[in-house]
Amino acid sequence: MAKLWTEPVTTALRADGLRVADIDTSATPGFIGGKQLGKAMLPERGELLSVLQEKLFAHGRTGGDRKVLLILQGMDTAGKGGIVRHVIGSVDPQGVDHASFGVPTEEEKAHDFLWRIRKRVPTPGQLGVFDRSHYEDVLVVRVHDLVPQSEWEQRYDQINAFEKEVADAGTTIVKVAMFVSLDEQKRRLRARLERPDKYWKFSPADITERAFWPEYQKAYQAILDRTNTDYAPWYVVPADHKWYSRLAVTELLIDALTGLGLDWPKAGFDVAEQLRLLDQS
Ligand code: AMP
Ligand code: MG
Repeated sequence: MAKLWTEPVTTALRADGLRVADIDTSATPGFIGGKQLGKAMLPERGELLSVLQEKLFAHGRTGGDRKVLLILQGMDTAGKGGIVRHVIGSVDPQGVDHASFGVPTEEEKAHDFLWRIRKRVPTPGQLGVFDRSHYEDVLVVRVHDLVPQSEWEQRYDQINAFEKEVADAGTTIVKVAMFVSLDEQKRRLRARLERPDKYWKFSPADITERAFWPEYQKAYQAILDRTNTDYAPWYVVPADHKWYSRLAVTELLIDALTGLGLDWPKAGFDVAEQLRLLDQS
Protein backbone atom coordinates (compact mmCIF):
# COMPACT_ATOMS: atom_id res chain seq x y z
CA MET A 1 0.00 0.00 0.00
CA ALA A 2 1.20 3.52 -0.74
CA LYS A 3 2.60 5.48 2.15
CA LEU A 4 -0.32 7.25 3.81
CA TRP A 5 1.61 9.20 6.44
CA THR A 6 4.02 11.81 5.16
CA GLU A 7 5.68 12.12 8.55
CA PRO A 8 5.45 10.44 11.96
CA VAL A 9 2.33 11.48 13.84
CA THR A 10 4.50 12.57 16.77
CA THR A 11 6.16 15.14 14.52
CA ALA A 12 3.00 16.18 12.68
CA LEU A 13 1.11 16.93 15.91
CA ARG A 14 3.80 18.22 18.30
CA ALA A 15 2.61 21.47 19.85
CA ASP A 16 6.00 23.22 19.86
CA GLY A 17 5.55 26.92 19.13
CA LEU A 18 2.01 26.40 17.89
CA ARG A 19 -0.56 29.22 17.98
CA VAL A 20 -4.04 28.01 18.93
CA ALA A 21 -5.58 30.71 16.70
CA ASP A 22 -3.79 29.16 13.71
CA ILE A 23 -5.06 25.61 14.18
CA ASP A 24 -6.98 24.32 11.17
CA THR A 25 -9.45 22.09 13.01
CA SER A 26 -10.46 20.32 9.78
CA ALA A 27 -6.90 19.44 8.77
CA THR A 28 -5.45 15.92 8.88
CA PRO A 29 -1.76 16.62 9.63
CA GLY A 30 0.62 14.07 8.20
CA PHE A 31 -2.11 11.86 6.73
CA ILE A 32 -2.84 11.92 3.01
CA GLY A 33 -5.03 8.83 2.73
CA GLY A 34 -8.39 10.56 3.11
CA LYS A 35 -11.48 9.51 5.01
CA GLN A 36 -12.19 6.12 3.46
CA LEU A 37 -8.69 4.75 3.95
CA GLY A 38 -8.32 6.44 7.33
CA LYS A 39 -11.48 4.80 8.58
CA ALA A 40 -10.56 1.45 7.10
CA MET A 41 -7.16 1.48 8.81
CA LEU A 42 -8.46 2.00 12.32
CA PRO A 43 -9.42 -1.62 13.19
CA GLU A 44 -6.08 -2.94 11.96
CA ARG A 45 -4.10 -0.33 13.88
CA GLY A 46 -6.33 -0.98 16.89
CA GLU A 47 -5.26 -4.62 16.78
CA LEU A 48 -1.61 -3.62 16.92
CA LEU A 49 -2.39 -1.25 19.79
CA SER A 50 -4.10 -4.10 21.57
CA VAL A 51 -1.07 -6.41 21.25
CA LEU A 52 1.27 -3.66 22.50
CA GLN A 53 -1.02 -2.91 25.43
CA GLU A 54 -1.14 -6.61 26.32
CA LYS A 55 2.67 -6.61 26.43
CA LEU A 56 2.53 -3.69 28.86
CA PHE A 57 0.01 -5.55 30.98
CA ALA A 58 2.11 -8.75 30.95
CA HIS A 59 5.15 -6.66 31.90
CA GLY A 60 3.27 -5.29 34.91
CA ARG A 61 2.15 -8.77 35.92
CA THR A 62 5.74 -10.00 35.93
CA GLY A 63 7.24 -7.28 38.09
CA GLY A 64 7.80 -4.50 35.54
CA ASP A 65 7.10 -0.92 36.56
CA ARG A 66 6.27 0.86 33.29
CA LYS A 67 2.93 2.52 32.66
CA VAL A 68 1.41 4.84 30.06
CA LEU A 69 -0.89 7.78 30.73
CA LEU A 70 -3.05 9.33 28.03
CA ILE A 71 -4.43 12.74 29.00
CA LEU A 72 -7.37 13.94 26.89
CA GLN A 73 -8.40 17.57 26.86
CA GLY A 74 -10.80 19.40 24.57
CA MET A 75 -13.90 21.54 24.54
CA ASP A 76 -17.29 19.87 24.83
CA THR A 77 -18.06 17.72 21.76
CA ALA A 78 -14.37 17.61 20.76
CA GLY A 79 -14.61 13.82 20.79
CA LYS A 80 -12.89 12.73 24.01
CA GLY A 81 -15.60 10.14 24.64
CA GLY A 82 -15.21 8.85 21.10
CA ILE A 83 -11.49 8.27 21.72
CA VAL A 84 -12.28 6.29 24.84
CA ARG A 85 -14.89 4.21 23.04
CA HIS A 86 -13.24 3.68 19.66
CA VAL A 87 -9.52 3.75 20.47
CA ILE A 88 -9.24 2.57 24.06
CA GLY A 89 -12.20 0.28 23.34
CA SER A 90 -9.96 -1.85 21.13
CA VAL A 91 -7.73 -2.95 24.02
CA ASP A 92 -8.30 -5.36 26.89
CA PRO A 93 -10.24 -3.50 29.64
CA GLN A 94 -8.34 -5.23 32.44
CA GLY A 95 -5.23 -3.27 31.43
CA VAL A 96 -6.99 0.09 31.29
CA ASP A 97 -7.50 2.51 34.14
CA HIS A 98 -10.02 5.09 32.96
CA ALA A 99 -10.74 8.20 34.99
CA SER A 100 -12.95 11.14 34.08
CA PHE A 101 -12.80 14.38 35.98
CA GLY A 102 -15.87 16.56 36.31
CA VAL A 103 -16.84 19.39 38.62
CA PRO A 104 -15.00 18.65 41.88
CA THR A 105 -17.04 17.23 44.74
CA GLU A 106 -17.10 18.96 48.12
CA GLU A 107 -14.49 16.50 49.35
CA GLU A 108 -12.26 17.13 46.34
CA LYS A 109 -12.63 20.89 46.76
CA ALA A 110 -11.33 20.62 50.29
CA HIS A 111 -8.00 19.35 48.95
CA ASP A 112 -5.26 20.59 46.65
CA PHE A 113 -6.30 20.37 42.95
CA LEU A 114 -3.88 17.49 42.33
CA TRP A 115 -5.30 15.36 45.15
CA ARG A 116 -7.96 13.62 43.08
CA ILE A 117 -5.56 13.30 40.15
CA ARG A 118 -2.77 11.63 42.15
CA LYS A 119 -5.18 8.93 43.23
CA ARG A 120 -5.74 7.91 39.62
CA VAL A 121 -2.24 7.81 38.13
CA PRO A 122 -1.77 4.41 36.52
CA THR A 123 -0.13 1.55 38.41
CA PRO A 124 2.50 -0.74 36.79
CA GLY A 125 1.36 -2.35 33.55
CA GLN A 126 -1.65 -0.09 33.16
CA LEU A 127 -2.71 2.21 30.39
CA GLY A 128 -4.25 5.13 32.26
CA VAL A 129 -6.71 7.39 30.48
CA PHE A 130 -7.73 10.79 31.84
CA ASP A 131 -10.91 12.15 30.24
CA ARG A 132 -10.31 15.75 31.34
CA SER A 133 -7.66 16.19 33.99
CA HIS A 134 -5.74 18.61 36.20
CA TYR A 135 -5.73 20.90 33.15
CA GLU A 136 -9.33 21.83 33.94
CA ASP A 137 -7.81 23.66 36.89
CA VAL A 138 -6.14 26.09 34.49
CA LEU A 139 -8.93 26.02 31.88
CA VAL A 140 -12.49 26.29 33.21
CA VAL A 141 -11.09 27.57 36.51
CA ARG A 142 -9.08 30.30 34.79
CA VAL A 143 -11.84 31.30 32.37
CA HIS A 144 -14.40 31.66 35.16
CA ASP A 145 -12.11 32.92 37.92
CA LEU A 146 -13.07 30.02 40.16
CA VAL A 147 -9.94 30.74 42.18
CA PRO A 148 -7.90 33.96 42.26
CA GLN A 149 -5.36 34.47 39.49
CA SER A 150 -2.53 34.40 42.03
CA GLU A 151 -3.53 30.81 42.70
CA TRP A 152 -4.06 29.47 39.17
CA GLU A 153 -0.89 31.19 37.95
CA GLN A 154 1.14 28.90 40.20
CA ARG A 155 -0.53 25.81 38.85
CA TYR A 156 1.45 25.63 35.60
CA ASP A 157 4.66 25.07 37.57
CA GLN A 158 2.90 22.73 39.96
CA ILE A 159 1.59 20.70 37.02
CA ASN A 160 5.04 20.48 35.46
CA ALA A 161 6.56 19.33 38.74
CA PHE A 162 3.79 16.77 39.21
CA GLU A 163 4.14 15.38 35.70
CA LYS A 164 7.92 15.19 36.09
CA GLU A 165 7.44 13.14 39.21
CA VAL A 166 5.00 10.81 37.42
CA ALA A 167 7.31 10.48 34.40
CA ASP A 168 10.32 9.76 36.64
CA ALA A 169 8.35 6.95 38.24
CA GLY A 170 8.25 5.13 34.88
CA THR A 171 5.20 6.62 33.19
CA THR A 172 5.13 7.61 29.55
CA ILE A 173 2.80 10.61 29.41
CA VAL A 174 0.94 11.44 26.19
CA LYS A 175 -1.09 14.65 26.30
CA VAL A 176 -3.68 15.21 23.61
CA ALA A 177 -5.51 18.47 23.08
CA MET A 178 -8.41 18.03 20.66
CA PHE A 179 -9.65 21.08 18.78
CA VAL A 180 -12.98 21.49 16.98
CA SER A 181 -14.19 24.70 15.37
CA LEU A 182 -16.96 26.74 16.92
CA ASP A 183 -19.17 25.83 13.95
CA GLU A 184 -18.47 22.12 14.24
CA GLN A 185 -19.28 22.31 17.93
CA LYS A 186 -22.60 23.91 17.05
CA ARG A 187 -23.40 21.05 14.65
CA ARG A 188 -22.51 18.46 17.26
CA LEU A 189 -24.54 20.14 20.00
CA ARG A 190 -27.49 20.36 17.61
CA ALA A 191 -27.12 16.65 16.89
CA ARG A 192 -27.26 15.97 20.63
CA LEU A 193 -30.46 18.01 20.90
CA GLU A 194 -32.04 16.21 17.97
CA ARG A 195 -31.50 12.71 19.32
CA PRO A 196 -33.11 11.46 22.52
CA ASP A 197 -30.31 8.92 22.88
CA LYS A 198 -27.83 11.82 23.02
CA TYR A 199 -29.64 14.08 25.50
CA TRP A 200 -27.58 12.63 28.34
CA LYS A 201 -24.44 14.10 26.78
CA PHE A 202 -25.93 17.58 26.64
CA SER A 203 -25.83 20.20 29.33
CA PRO A 204 -27.42 23.67 28.98
CA ALA A 205 -24.08 25.06 30.15
CA ASP A 206 -22.56 23.79 26.89
CA ILE A 207 -24.36 26.66 25.14
CA THR A 208 -23.49 29.41 27.61
CA GLU A 209 -19.86 28.24 27.55
CA ARG A 210 -19.71 28.99 23.80
CA ALA A 211 -19.66 32.70 24.61
CA PHE A 212 -16.32 32.13 26.38
CA TRP A 213 -14.65 30.54 23.35
CA PRO A 214 -11.93 33.25 23.00
CA GLU A 215 -11.09 32.97 26.71
CA TYR A 216 -10.79 29.20 26.37
CA GLN A 217 -8.54 29.62 23.33
CA LYS A 218 -6.32 31.85 25.45
CA ALA A 219 -6.28 29.37 28.30
CA TYR A 220 -5.36 26.55 25.90
CA GLN A 221 -2.58 28.70 24.49
CA ALA A 222 -1.17 29.18 27.99
CA ILE A 223 -1.19 25.44 28.55
CA LEU A 224 0.66 24.76 25.32
CA ASP A 225 3.16 27.54 26.08
CA ARG A 226 3.79 26.60 29.70
CA THR A 227 3.31 22.85 30.10
CA ASN A 228 4.69 21.39 26.87
CA THR A 229 7.73 19.54 28.23
CA ASP A 230 10.05 16.78 27.00
CA TYR A 231 8.75 14.44 29.69
CA ALA A 232 5.09 15.25 29.05
CA PRO A 233 4.66 16.64 25.55
CA TRP A 234 1.43 18.04 24.14
CA TYR A 235 0.03 16.84 20.84
CA VAL A 236 -2.54 19.02 19.11
CA VAL A 237 -5.17 16.97 17.28
CA PRO A 238 -7.54 18.68 14.85
CA ALA A 239 -10.86 17.04 15.62
CA ASP A 240 -13.49 18.17 13.12
CA HIS A 241 -12.96 14.81 11.41
CA LYS A 242 -13.59 12.07 13.95
CA TRP A 243 -11.97 9.41 11.75
CA TYR A 244 -8.75 11.45 11.80
CA SER A 245 -8.63 12.21 15.53
CA ARG A 246 -9.24 8.54 16.36
CA LEU A 247 -6.58 7.33 13.95
CA ALA A 248 -4.12 9.98 15.16
CA VAL A 249 -4.54 9.10 18.85
CA THR A 250 -4.24 5.40 18.01
CA GLU A 251 -0.92 6.15 16.31
CA LEU A 252 0.28 8.29 19.24
CA LEU A 253 -0.39 5.40 21.62
CA ILE A 254 1.24 2.88 19.30
CA ASP A 255 4.30 5.13 19.24
CA ALA A 256 4.37 5.49 23.04
CA LEU A 257 4.00 1.75 23.64
CA THR A 258 6.50 0.81 20.95
CA GLY A 259 8.94 3.23 22.58
CA LEU A 260 8.87 1.14 25.75
CA GLY A 261 10.58 -1.65 23.78
CA LEU A 262 8.77 -4.33 25.75
CA ASP A 263 8.81 -7.97 24.77
CA TRP A 264 6.74 -10.86 26.05
CA PRO A 265 8.03 -11.84 29.50
CA LYS A 266 10.33 -14.85 29.56
CA ALA A 267 8.94 -17.99 31.15
CA GLY A 268 9.84 -18.25 34.82
CA PHE A 269 9.88 -22.05 34.49
CA ASP A 270 11.40 -24.73 32.27
CA VAL A 271 8.98 -24.96 29.33
CA ALA A 272 10.21 -28.36 28.12
CA GLU A 273 9.92 -29.78 31.61
CA GLN A 274 6.41 -28.37 32.03
CA LEU A 275 5.36 -29.92 28.69
CA ARG A 276 6.74 -33.27 29.84
CA LEU A 277 4.90 -33.01 33.16
CA LEU A 278 1.71 -32.03 31.33
CA ASP A 279 1.93 -35.09 29.11
CA GLN A 280 2.33 -37.28 32.18
CA SER A 281 -0.56 -35.67 34.04
P1 AMP B 1 -18.30 16.39 30.87
O1 AMP B 1 -16.86 16.04 30.58
O2 AMP B 1 -19.04 16.86 29.66
O3 AMP B 1 -19.00 15.33 31.62
O4 AMP B 1 -18.30 17.67 31.82
C1 AMP B 1 -17.55 17.76 32.95
C2 AMP B 1 -17.58 19.19 33.41
O5 AMP B 1 -16.82 19.32 34.59
C3 AMP B 1 -17.01 20.17 32.39
O6 AMP B 1 -17.88 21.24 32.22
C4 AMP B 1 -15.72 20.63 33.06
O7 AMP B 1 -15.34 21.93 32.71
C5 AMP B 1 -16.07 20.51 34.53
N1 AMP B 1 -14.87 20.41 35.35
C6 AMP B 1 -13.90 19.48 35.29
N2 AMP B 1 -12.92 19.74 36.17
C7 AMP B 1 -13.26 20.88 36.81
C8 AMP B 1 -12.65 21.67 37.82
N3 AMP B 1 -11.48 21.32 38.35
N4 AMP B 1 -13.32 22.76 38.24
C9 AMP B 1 -14.50 23.11 37.70
N5 AMP B 1 -15.12 22.41 36.75
C10 AMP B 1 -14.51 21.31 36.29
MG1 MG C 1 -20.12 17.78 28.38
